[in-house]
Amino acid sequence: MIKSTLQNNTAPSQEVSRNGSQPIVNKVSPAAQTQTAEDDMNPDDFIALGKPNGDLKPGLYLIATPIGNLRDITFRALDTLNGADIVLCEDTRVTGKLLRAYGFKKPMQVYNDHSSDKQRENIIAAVQSGQAVAILSDAGTPLISDPGYKLVRLAIEAGLHITSVPGPSAALCGVQLSGLPTNQFSFLGFLPPKSAARITALQAWADAPGSLVIYETGPRLADSLTDMMQVLGDREVAVTRELTKMFEEVRRGMLSEVIAHYTENGPPKGEIVVVIAPKGEVVVSTESLEQQIIKALETMSVRDAAEMVAKASGKPKRAIYTLALKLASK
Ligand code: SAM
Repeated sequence: MIKSTLQNNTAPSQEVSRNGSQPIVNKVSPAAQTQTAEDDMNPDDFIALGKPNGDLKPGLYLIATPIGNLRDITFRALDTLNGADIVLCEDTRVTGKLLRAYGFKKPMQVYNDHSSDKQRENIIAAVQSGQAVAILSDAGTPLISDPGYKLVRLAIEAGLHITSVPGPSAALCGVQLSGLPTNQFSFLGFLPPKSAARITALQAWADAPGSLVIYETGPRLADSLTDMMQVLGDREVAVTRELTKMFEEVRRGMLSEVIAHYTENGPPKGEIVVVIAPKGEVVVSTESLEQQIIKALETMSVRDAAEMVAKASGKPKRAIYTLALKLASK
């Protein structure tokens, strides 16, 4: 029986079009909107609010862009794009569409994990010669499971001006919607695609405090969740999908329940962030502990079932083992 819960947001939204060439969003008018806000503000607030900025000083500008909904762009991101001399991006077709949607026409240059030292040096030289260089990824916050880290390091060494223009990141949206603890979490990025390497990678996080946040793909999801249950125990999980898009969905439940769902229904489409509860976080009553053990005993030996439930619940292994032995003999 599937007990996982589902939240489905079908409210209409404007999504980043990876196919259409038409601008799919009304042009935002930051100046007009900030003008209204300025009327009610004192000068100190006004500095915090910021002003549209035509001239950018030379530097590297790390600009976050939408992860699905085109309206998730900040006034400052638009101002900065407006002032940038050149836009570095992973794929000029993807970023070209995004820029057109906001009415910008900018020189673009591909920058990705395969970019050479020479290319990085050229970018640094461009900033040193007075250019404002924007870095964008296909979607979301640059450098977060996306290229840019080496370039930022080089720019720091060269003493260049670097600033973050923050905005959406799938990891943070996933954590927010998960319903799991947000005070501490570890971002694991993408796990290795092969099971053996994935299990080894997960073992390093088994005792980490806080929630675990993982980027995953639909076709790999069920196998990956199964490895997570094997290493971390049957913890609470939230599979967050298509965040900020028309078919945004959050499936919450125990790992075992959510695995059963995807095994039964096949891999989900779209982009995915998995959030897993911290070790021992789930408050389990004696009854649900017993239920967990009984369920585990359907497919596991007493020893394995006890170990998994102990891991997930944070309860002493010996006590769980004794309970498992009793339940197995019934
Ligand atoms: N830098 C980006 C960020 O800040 O979110 C992440 C880039 S990473 C290459 C892409 C992965 O992020 C996807 O495979 C997926 O796991 C996650 N992701 C991106 N957009 C998403 C969305 N709208 N909903 C759920 N996950 C998303």
